[in-house]
Amino acid sequence: MIVVMRPEATKKEIEHVANVVKEMGLKPHVITGTDLSVVAVIGDDRKKDKGALEQAPGVDRVVPILAPYKMAARESKKERTTVKLGAGCVFGGKQVPVIAGPCSVENEKQIIDAAKKVKAAGAHALRGGAFKPRTSPYAFQGLGEEGLKLLAKARAETGLTVVTEVLTPSDVELVAEYADCLQIGTRNSQNYKLLEAAGKSGKAVLYKRGMSMTIDEFLQGSEYVLSQGNPNLILCERGIRTFEDHTRNTLSLSAIPELHYRSHLPVVIDPSQGTGHARLVPDMCRAAVAAGADGLIIEVHPDPEHAMTDGAQSITPETLKELIASLKRIAHAVDREV
Ligand code: PEP
Ligand code: MN
Repeated sequence: MIVVMRPEATKKEIEHVANVVKEMGLKPHVITGTDLSVVAVIGDDRKKDKGALEQAPGVDRVVPILAPYKMAARESKKERTTVKLGAGCVFGGKQVPVIAGPCSVENEKQIIDAAKKVKAAGAHALRGGAFKPRTSPYAFQGLGEEGLKLLAKARAETGLTVVTEVLTPSDVELVAEYADCLQIGTRNSQNYKLLEAAGKSGKAVLYKRGMSMTIDEFLQGSEYVLSQGNPNLILCERGIRTFEDHTRNTLSLSAIPELHYRSHLPVVIDPSQGTGHARLVPDMCRAAVAAGADGLIIEVHPDPEHAMTDGAQSITPETLKELIASLKRIAHAVDREV
C-alpha cells in the first residue's frame, strides 16, 4: 500500500506514520515530493487493516497496491487453470463446454428425458438443481437427495457429467457423493463457510458471482475455495442487479475479459439467470463465446411451459441444438471449439 499524506502534513506526522508501519511488521519508505509526501509500504500487507492508517494525523488516503486475492490472481500462476469434469469436458482450455439441463430436477421422466435430449443436442454436461435456493419459502424447494439420485441415474444413462447446487456446508458431503461439480449459487456467494467446505471436498466447484458482488469481492470469495487446496474452481457470471428491469438480471459480459485479465481461473456464463427470458438466451450465448467465455451453463427443459421452476428462461432441446451449431461457428472464429 501507499499512504498519501496531506500537503500540510508535518515531519512529525510523517515519522509517526512510518513508525505505525514498522509496528505492523512492514517497512516504510518515505518519498518526499514537491507538494506532498507519501509513505510506500514494503511487504505483504494483506493481513493488516489498511484503512486504520487513515486515522493517523496528516494522512489523506491509503491506496492498496497488492490485489487482495492471492491464489486467484493471474500473477500467482503462469498457465491458465483448466478444470476437467470428465472426459471431453474441460473448462479453461480450447474447448468451450456447454452445461445444459433443467433449473430443477422434477421427476425421473423429466430429468432422464432432459439429459438424453441435451446430450443429443451436443451438450457436454448436465445441470439440474436438487436443492433449490428459492426466494419464497413456500415455493418448490427441490427433491433433495431423491433429486441427486435421479441425476446420478441420468449420468449413468447418458455419460454426461453432473453439475448441481449445494446450499449448506452440512450437505456438501452428500451432494459430493453424487455430483461431479458442486454449484455454489448467487445467494450463497458470500457464505464463506460453504465455500470452505466445498473447497475441502476436493470436488470441482462452479462458483456463481453474487448478484450484488463486485469483481474484486468475487475473486476474494474464490480464494476461500482455492486456499483449501482445491484448484478445481470455475467462476460463473450470472448477471447482477441493476436498475434495468427488461431482464431478470444484467448479464455483465465484460466480466469475462476482466476476470481473465485478473485471474487464471476459467469463466463460464449463465445466460438463463442472466436474462430471465428464453428469447434472449441464444444471442447472449453467442456473445459470450465471442467474448472469450470458457463455458456456458444453460437452462434447458423438454417442456418449458410446464417447468416447475424458471420456465420463462428455459430453452427447448431443439433450440439448444440449433444454438450449439451456431456456437461452433463462432468458437471457430475466435480459435476455440464447442
Ligand atoms: C440456478 O442455476 O438455477 C440458480 C438458482 O442460479 P443462481 O444462483 O445464479 O440464481
Ligand atoms: Mn434456475
